[in-house]
Amino acid sequence: MILKEKSYLITGASSGIGKAVALRLASKAHTLKLVARRKDKLDLLKNDLMKINPQLKLDLIVQDINDHHFISFLKDHRHLDVGTLISNAGLAVGKDYVENANWEDLEKMIQTNFLSLVKLTHAVLPVMKKNGFGDILHVSSISAHQTYVGGAVYAATKHAVHAFTKALREETCGQNIRVMQISPGMVETEFSLNRFNQDEEKARQVYQGMTPLKAEDIARHIDFMLSEPRHVTIDELTTTPIDQGSVNTVRRL
Ligand code: NDP
Repeated sequence: MILKEKSYLITGASSGIGKAVALRLASKAHTLKLVARRKDKLDLLKNDLMKINPQLKLDLIVQDINDHHFISFLKDHRHLDVGTLISNAGLAVGKDYVENANWEDLEKMIQTNFLSLVKLTHAVLPVMKKNGFGDILHVSSISAHQTYVGGAVYAATKHAVHAFTKALREETCGQNIRVMQISPGMVETEFSLNRFNQDEEKARQVYQGMTPLKAEDIARHIDFMLSEPRHVTIDELTTTPIDQGSVNTVRRL
């Protein structure tokens, strides 16, 4: 049981928040299971993680979480037998009005941010119940609470993550399973690059004249949530940059 408590499955670990969380947890983890599609990024991260903790048991899971075989792959390789699931993989694609957006982009957000997150939690819960121990942390967003023009479907997916997490918290309480969510404001990662199809200038403008959160800030917050004594559940943690008052209000120089 002690080892299980120190084993973590993190989706979206090849960059941004997921990568920062892996680096943050490396020194205290027994096992890290890291999921992403880009093998080269995970291989580079592996070097850094092994420097932090040469004893670390590291599983690099190069998979698309939207692949139909993803959950069965995890089951077959006993990757669901972890103490903590951090469901972080997610994205925004484009910032168009709904009628102008590509249907494939909207579907990708719904699939990645919500359906695949639900599917993974659905698969891991029975294992945690059997073990009598578990932490499930969903990376949501302040867009789970607010909306903005051009972000209808992204915000809808995060609203859905929020509702799902809240209900799950009620279903699991009293079973030594903590279900939590973190809802960040603007964090400078590859998020905006991906949103704007690798357009560096558009991505740079998102953070122009203000100081966004860093991935390391969110990793610190997640570490805090997971490190609280066992009788404490941080239901939800919302953090924004000092310059961001809401999803629509950002003060810039
Ligand atoms: P990044 O783009 O830097 O990281 C996203 C991660 O998700 C990457 O590791 C990517 O890996 C992985 N990923 C995306 N799609 C898939 C997929 N289909 N299968 C497997 N892995 C996938 O962005 P962030 O770190 O910022 O985003 C992490 C989470 O934080 C997301 O859920 C996002 O919605 C949320 N968030 C971000 C905010 C921000 O301002 N940045 C604000 C609020 C919430 P790979 O490409 O290698 O597969």
